[in-house]
Amino acid sequence: MKALVYGGPGKKTWTEVPNPKIQNPTDAIVRLDATTICGTDLHILKGDVPTVSVGRILGHEGVGKITEVGSSVTNLKVGDRVLISCIKSCGSCANCKIGLYSHCLGDEGVSGIGWVFGHLIDGTQAEYVRVPYAENSLYKLPSGVSDEEGVMLSDIFPTGFEIGVQYGSVKPGDVVAVVGSGPIGLAVIATASLYGAARIIAIDLDANRLEKSREFGATDTVNSGDSNWREQVMALTDGAGVDVAVEAVGVPDTFTMATEIVRPGGHVANVGVHGKEVPLHVENLWIQNIFISMGLVNTNTTPMLLKLVESKKLPAAKMVTHRFTFDQFMEAYDTFGRAAETKALKVVISR
Ligand SMILES: [Zn+2]
Ligand SMILES: [Zn+2]
Repeated sequence: MKALVYGGPGKKTWTEVPNPKIQNPTDAIVRLDATTICGTDLHILKGDVPTVSVGRILGHEGVGKITEVGSSVTNLKVGDRVLISCIKSCGSCANCKIGLYSHCLGDEGVSGIGWVFGHLIDGTQAEYVRVPYAENSLYKLPSGVSDEEGVMLSDIFPTGFEIGVQYGSVKPGDVVAVVGSGPIGLAVIATASLYGAARIIAIDLDANRLEKSREFGATDTVNSGDSNWREQVMALTDGAGVDVAVEAVGVPDTFTMATEIVRPGGHVANVGVHGKEVPLHVENLWIQNIFISMGLVNTNTTPMLLKLVESKKLPAAKMVTHRFTFDQFMEAYDTFGRAAETKALKVVISR
């Protein structure tokens, strides 16, 4: 089969590799129909994630059809159309039992981390993928959910919802600011609307992304390139600050920005993946009674989000800006890697 293989920092190839095989009775093999590229894949290619070894197939998002199941898999069968979650979960370890799938103790070369695809085991940017703990890591796709919509639920929407909205404790009537209007920020905006936020302020440097944010439910936009961006945000909250400030970029400055606009007693939810040391000014923040949260998605809200997509309550398909076929994988990376110029949000690569 063909797959996108990591060749060390800055190097990747779409190349011929052996097909994956069932290794454990709990595995399934999925033939991918559609996949995508995540900002995390770009971090890996920069060399920011040293746990990814040379030769690894990248990717942790996708939908496809099951072609083989291990001997102990009973609730899935060959031919089932499934969503592959970016997090594998055994469903029976101590962490899975409390819903902390992100730290599943099931052993896949390493124990204690749910994100293994395109990281510690071969991923979904391939024609076929081996899925460990298939019964709990795959979700049958309702016929009313398209492949493209499904792919947006492997990572983007659960991450935005769980780590932004749920960890940020968004409540009806809240003013929520989202720093960063990339795919994850837009997923936060779309799902914060579901929780009855009174106002959702999108903050970004890119005018195109700010405009896009309104399609996902932003009520106000602020360009962070403006010297008075902070005053603009404060003016939207009568000077009080926002109830919930979500960081959805993953650089030190945007985290600091989130801490500068939250009201006393409010929440800062960090969703971004950080590769550099991030300062936290406890000397200024201690007196503000704020809550700060962060984490890796558990994906245990995936079934709920699937229902919302099926009933057209979540605009998942709007996230897709570019479409490619598998033999255009390198082009897809190029387009996604130059998102500022190409205006790419999510690129979908299908068969
Ligand atoms: Zn991702
Ligand atoms: Zn587990």
